[in-house]
Amino acid sequence: MKETPNKPHWQLDIVSDLVIDSKWAEGLEGLGGFSHIIVLFWFDRVTEKDVPLKVHPMHKEDLPVTGLFATRTPNRPNRIGLTVVKLLRREGSVLKVTGLDALEGTPVLDIKPYLRSGELVPDATEPAWAQETQRESAKSSAILQEIYRRLLRTYGPQHWWPADEPFEVMIGAILTQSTAWSNVEKAISNLKKADAMSPPALRQLSLKELAALLRPSGYYTVKARKLKALVDWLEYHNDDLSRLSAEDTDRLRQERLGVYGVGDETADSILLYAIGKPVFVIDAYTRRMIDRVGPYLLPSSSRAESRKTRDKPYADYQGFFVQNLQPDVAVFNEYHALLVRHGKQTCSKVPLCPGCCLLDICKHGMASMGENRQS
Ligand code: SF4
Repeated sequence: MKETPNKPHWQLDIVSDLVIDSKWAEGLEGLGGFSHIIVLFWFDRVTEKDVPLKVHPMHKEDLPVTGLFATRTPNRPNRIGLTVVKLLRREGSVLKVTGLDALEGTPVLDIKPYLRSGELVPDATEPAWAQETQRESAKSSAILQEIYRRLLRTYGPQHWWPADEPFEVMIGAILTQSTAWSNVEKAISNLKKADAMSPPALRQLSLKELAALLRPSGYYTVKARKLKALVDWLEYHNDDLSRLSAEDTDRLRQERLGVYGVGDETADSILLYAIGKPVFVIDAYTRRMIDRVGPYLLPSSSRAESRKTRDKPYADYQGFFVQNLQPDVAVFNEYHALLVRHGKQTCSKVPLCPGCCLLDICKHGMASMGENRQS
């Protein structure tokens, strides 16, 4: 597959090429009469692993534990993917389609025509939880798409992450903990001036020398230790950052979380912005926005009003995004950057609700406007 969409599949204007081996081209004849086709593909970049045979559908603990094959969980014992796409036209052995949700270069296993009478079973039934989750998922997905569109329209592309190369992204993700980005920039500038912006160069510095360079970023002794732990981890991977992108995301995440000074947010920032993995980064701005727009969006286990934002599980916020958006590095990159901009500029500690682009879909904003009218 070529020209994988860098937007989610709901933006159906993205055209992808299904490049079929020319020896099968004759078998494509007649396909042009169909508006949609079913594509079976192979998730060649997913590592095979043991998976539990029973799961909570959609990772929602309030839904009954169900057999793996009675759910659509992507965590399966095989790597076969299936999707229905719109067929625009056939150009020889290349099929131009829209709505494809696979990464560039993903191998195609098979193609079948989508038959209206064959695929639609009028009297099909399904358990109540499946109907409910589809309704909830469609609603959550629509809200997330709408928020993304509005933020992008309001603030424009944010061009994240501000760094020259992936190693600098990793350094920035650690140094930005508990400090403003302007302070991080000064520390990074010190590292560059000292010719220390590479894993081997950082290893050469003593802890004291490194801490002195990091002084503008605050907590410099602790951060020096964290950077030392980072380069130790990279040494384990032969300092080859380009090869990390081929590693299994879950495994990398577990490894990163075992490194001193790397929590969920830092690990996910590194995975997304430095290594190019489709993980959604959750930070304080995102938590605050979700809590204000609609805490009802989160699973019931973390919805309780009495729970403070910082006490709600990171995974619940992240799950809300990843379960309702197509995994797409470019969109996850932009979405997180937009949420940070929105959190700083508009949905700050004291939110500027009048004029906010999310006002009419925000529970907190609408409530505060009502209160203002009454007072
Ligand atoms: S309406 Fe107010 S609370 Fe809601 S997202 Fe906008 S600024 Fe934040």
